[in-house]
Amino acid sequence: MTGETDLHAYSYDAAVLDPVVPSYVVRPQTTEALGQIVRLCNENGLPLTVRGAGTNLSGGTIPHPGGVVVLTNRLNRILEINEEDLYAVVEPGVITSRLAAEVASRGLFYPPDPGSQTVSTLGGNVAENAGGLRGLKYGVTKDYVMGIEFFDVDGTLVKGGSRTVKCVTGLNLPGLMVGSEGTLGVFSKIILKLIPPPRAARSMMAVFGTIKAASETVAAIIAAKIVPATLELMDNFTIRTVESFRKAGLPTEAAALLLIEVDGHPAQVEDEAVQVERICRENGAEDLTVARDSAERDIIWQARRDALPALAKLKPSCVLEDATVPRSKIPAMIEALTEISKEYNLPIGTFGHAGDGNLHPTILTDRRDKVEWQRVEQAITAIFERAVQLDGTLSGEHGIGIAKARFMEREVGAGTLAYSRRLKMAVDPKNILNPGKMV
Ligand SMILES: Cc1cc2nc3c(=O)[nH]c(=O)nc-3n(C[C@H](O)[C@H](O)[C@H](O)COP(=O)(O)OP(=O)(O)OC[C@H]3O[C@@H](n4cnc5c(N)ncnc54)[C@H](O)[C@@H]3O)c2cc1C
Repeated sequence: MTGETDLHAYSYDAAVLDPVVPSYVVRPQTTEALGQIVRLCNENGLPLTVRGAGTNLSGGTIPHPGGVVVLTNRLNRILEINEEDLYAVVEPGVITSRLAAEVASRGLFYPPDPGSQTVSTLGGNVAENAGGLRGLKYGVTKDYVMGIEFFDVDGTLVKGGSRTVKCVTGLNLPGLMVGSEGTLGVFSKIILKLIPPPRAARSMMAVFGTIKAASETVAAIIAAKIVPATLELMDNFTIRTVESFRKAGLPTEAAALLLIEVDGHPAQVEDEAVQVERICRENGAEDLTVARDSAERDIIWQARRDALPALAKLKPSCVLEDATVPRSKIPAMIEALTEISKEYNLPIGTFGHAGDGNLHPTILTDRRDKVEWQRVEQAITAIFERAVQLDGTLSGEHGIGIAKARFMEREVGAGTLAYSRRLKMAVDPKNILNPGKMV
């Protein structure tokens, strides 16, 4: 495609960054065509950006000027669901929730559940190592990638991993591809681990009078060696915004909420629910509601899923960050976010996967207001600096892309960055594969 509308449609993604209009957009329908496109781009020196659903939040699919955007939405077949050996084989354009629903209908479970799962693709999930609400107990995408096939920059098909539970043949290429953000190879096929689903689950909502008490409760639950499937936090700003977005009956006076789900064997669920309730109350929970049925459970999780769309409606631009710290440092990170919001005079709603130490401070702004945008950039820098000081990381799940590339050295150091660049240039000497991202 070279029509102006098509080119503009693929010039941006979910990150708040300037768009770049590509020169070509192509939509292969077969694996062979995908490989040929990669080869032709390399031969002709055309920068290539693969795009799943474009929901990444770090500018990973903003094309390079003069480059080619390769869409994977027609490479969307679930090739195999193996119920005996517990794996699925998919093409990269399969929508995440479609695979999850398909395996659920066969009594199996694919746990990674990014908030974008109804639109994001499995190729994009692997390239970003996407997490989700269940990361705390079930891990993230990397924990489910058993094998991968991808095109090298010259169009050669490369295979890593296998359909076996264990495989140590050769380099860990699936490990290298996970989180590679389209910079090292173009995936054509992914083998994903499936597991049996939990037999029971219980969801709870704990109400706190201070955000400090809520964040200390997160650390206390983890320190008690309980691993909930999900342990999410919402601050007062987010609670009020979500409640005005969709009336769910949230306590709008609460300083913070913890949304918790324990799952597993029914006896274990019973035991863990009692312990979680006790820890919440000991740490100052003013109220705790246990969902009595699936309708009440859905209300709790819908409220959490509404957090980003509700906040995003308040201002023209919404910068969703994902600085992540060790769980014991959550109270310190929350305190830092409150100070940063005051210092730069910016509304910041905070919610996220507190059990993973992965918060989503969300800055509401208007990118067109240049003066305010300067403060936003300073606030983002302050958030990252604080996270790194607390032994944390720039990104728990949203990737580096363009948005955070300039901060990489501060976290990993010059040596690590130089090594990563040498690796990239060794496999892609002409810098064709998603140039300008990450390293
Ligand atoms: C509302 C909302 C909620 C979100 N919630 C979460 C969340 O809970 N957890 C989380 O981790 N993320 C979340 N995200 C971010 C985003 O959805 C994830 O990063 C997701 O994995 C991106 O998938 P995608 O198909 O949109 O990939 P894209 O955005 O299209 O691409 C992402 C990266 O993958 C590369 N890529 C895509 N396909 C291939 C391929 N076949 N071969 C090689 N590289 C490829 C691209 O080049 C790019 O670098 C959220 C985003 C939104 C908008």
